[in-house]
Amino acid sequence: MTLARRSFLKKSATCACHLALAASVMPVAARKLWAAESLGQVVAREPFGTLEKVADGVWAVISRPLDGDRTTLANGGLIAGKNAVLAVEGFNQPAGAQWLAAKSLELTGMRPTHVVLTHHHGDHANGIAGFQAGGASCAVHSTAITRDIVIGRDAKAAEPAPARAATLSGAVLLSPTDATTLDLGGRAVRVVPRGGHTQSDVTVELDDPSIVFCGDLVWNGMFPNYVDTTPSKFVGAVRGLKRAKDTIYVPGHGALAKEREIDRYIAVLDEVEAAARKSYAAGISADDIGKTFMLSESLGQWALFSNIFYPRAFDAWYKELKA
Ligand SMILES: [Zn+2]
Repeated sequence: MTLARRSFLKKSATCACHLALAASVMPVAARKLWAAESLGQVVAREPFGTLEKVADGVWAVISRPLDGDRTTLANGGLIAGKNAVLAVEGFNQPAGAQWLAAKSLELTGMRPTHVVLTHHHGDHANGIAGFQAGGASCAVHSTAITRDIVIGRDAKAAEPAPARAATLSGAVLLSPTDATTLDLGGRAVRVVPRGGHTQSDVTVELDDPSIVFCGDLVWNGMFPNYVDTTPSKFVGAVRGLKRAKDTIYVPGHGALAKEREIDRYIAVLDEVEAAARKSYAAGISADDIGKTFMLSESLGQWALFSNIFYPRAFDAWYKELKA
């Protein structure tokens, strides 16, 4: 890896950065896998992704940024009740949030009245002000940690983002310890505090129909970014969000998932953990195992967006094993 690329990756350490590299390095077969036939009914198709109906009043945004359009970049969605609509995620650009707000109006007769940020990474948070564009009223819900990290990052950034700071400063804070229930009118949504992908992650959950918006705790067909991850907590959170009953999972990246895809994903995380423990005990460096590691073929095809992703996963595990 060249020094220039290494420093680029270091500077832009969010889950978005590697996706920006993906188009050039992702094998054709893996791209097809991502674009596989969806579990949802597509109601809108855009250059940056699709909006898919998952159940009555529930839609998932499935972003497909590999051709270079990163308007939304992360997945998210809409959940409608009788008198309120909740959007999930702020997306990569304000234009992504504005697009989803317009779709909400078309599909439900209402713009989003609430939005939940699952975590601080730029591809999920940077577009949040788009929901309040033109003076629209939309309550932002995030944990204090997520709010403070985004505002702190912006304060140090070369380009100021006053609209984002203003939007987040007014956030309604989610409890870091207990689930928060949002009543949308005949539909209760639970926002569940979890963690592991970052210091503070939340999932957005419905019981009937059973649907979980997973944020970046779940990646489907795409190897996860361990950049801010505490691996044991991460794996525990993934096991914790899996339900015994038939459920649709909206991952942070990749196509909609069901039990089979979640089990395959957990097997990927377990295989990384086993390899990390074995190589750590054998005195092999994280960089060396990261450069040679391959997932078992039985786990199917996983897009690896950058060569740094395996070393980064082992780095995260080694930090924890050393502690
Ligand atoms: Zn993330």
